[in-house]
Amino acid sequence: MAAVALERVAKTFPDGTAAVRDLSLEVADGELVVLVGPSGCGKSTVLRLIAGLEAATGGTVRIGDRPVNDTGPGERDVAMVFQNYALYPHMTVRGNLEFPLRMRGLGRAERRRRAEEAARLLGITELLERRPKALSGGQRQRAAMGRALVREPAVFLMDEPLSNLDAKLRVRIRAEIAALQRRLGATTIYVTHDQAEAMTLGHRVAVLRDGVVQQMDAPDRLYAAPSNAFVAAFLGSPGMNLLRTRIHPEAGGWRAELGAQEVTLPVEVVPAALAGGGPQEVLLGVRPEGFVVPGGVEGGERLRLPVRMREFLGHEILLYLEPPVSTVDPESPDTAPPLVARLEKGAPQPGEVADLALDPGALHFFAPDGARLD
Ligand code: ATP
Repeated sequence: MAAVALERVAKTFPDGTAAVRDLSLEVADGELVVLVGPSGCGKSTVLRLIAGLEAATGGTVRIGDRPVNDTGPGERDVAMVFQNYALYPHMTVRGNLEFPLRMRGLGRAERRRRAEEAARLLGITELLERRPKALSGGQRQRAAMGRALVREPAVFLMDEPLSNLDAKLRVRIRAEIAALQRRLGATTIYVTHDQAEAMTLGHRVAVLRDGVVQQMDAPDRLYAAPSNAFVAAFLGSPGMNLLRTRIHPEAGGWRAELGAQEVTLPVEVVPAALAGGGPQEVLLGVRPEGFVVPGGVEGGERLRLPVRMREFLGHEILLYLEPPVSTVDPESPDTAPPLVARLEKGAPQPGEVADLALDPGALHFFAPDGARLD
């Protein structure tokens, strides 16, 4: 297996679309890195640049120690799995698995051995003699993965491989991919627009926006310390609430102005970057779980907010609340999203006013332009 490195890679298409800009990232040998971001952010283009299906217009792509910019896709020793399984319909699963090996001139016995080994790993041995049309979506996806696996490539590239599957199957195959990747120790780069898939699968996750990596880190660190408002709002379901607020110092702490209500912020939660300054405009970030029932957290400041909508999800309730000040969705700057609170039980109904406490330990601060303040 090999490491992959992109050094200041750019891709501008002939029509002038800059799909990838000055992108640098390293994937360690045996690591599973997920590229995640909204539609059109350049994820597939990055993968295609690594596969050699697109030529970079700037920078260097390395696989192992080797720059591969001038190496064709056939010589890069990577295997790609797409969302539309790309199985040959007229061949059985066995035929499909053996096909790439036949192309490489491997002997019959070796082809058979590798195809059966891949089928065993993926739990599709009993399907080897079937044709793709006689398979379910999940079985087809496993067969497509098998076809990548038999080649024993240096690097696996997966482009939204689960997006054609229903929600339950997606969760199951996601877990299978994670287990298989661990077992094989295969260097893998996985693309998805689904932040939950990214967070559960990736050893590290790179969040992309407009062809630029916003942040790359382990999922727990991305969640705990997003480097900007975009990452904060993109990760989590729902993502972080962002309120346009003015905060001002007062004796022993700070106050945040939330419309007609004000809340006290303990001095230790206010970023050092703001300390010593006067009143400032900030984006105050609160994850849905940062709103709790009164008394549910020490030092929680009370907020009363009208309920617009309530979603019962069994183990939790999402409350969509009237924001006391304007809110921000970095993905669509023209909208003003409601505040979302996640409660376990006892949530009020639409039309009622929710009596909530704000967990001071769960607050994040961003500059008005979105940069994290620490
Ligand atoms: P999605 O999640 O919707 O698949 P993505 O993040 O994978 O999106 P890309 O497919 O990499 O995004 O596309 C990135 C940008 O480059 C988009 O603006 C897209 O329209 C543009 N693009 C992709 N291929 C070409 C092309 N051949 N010519 C011109 N522009 C292109």
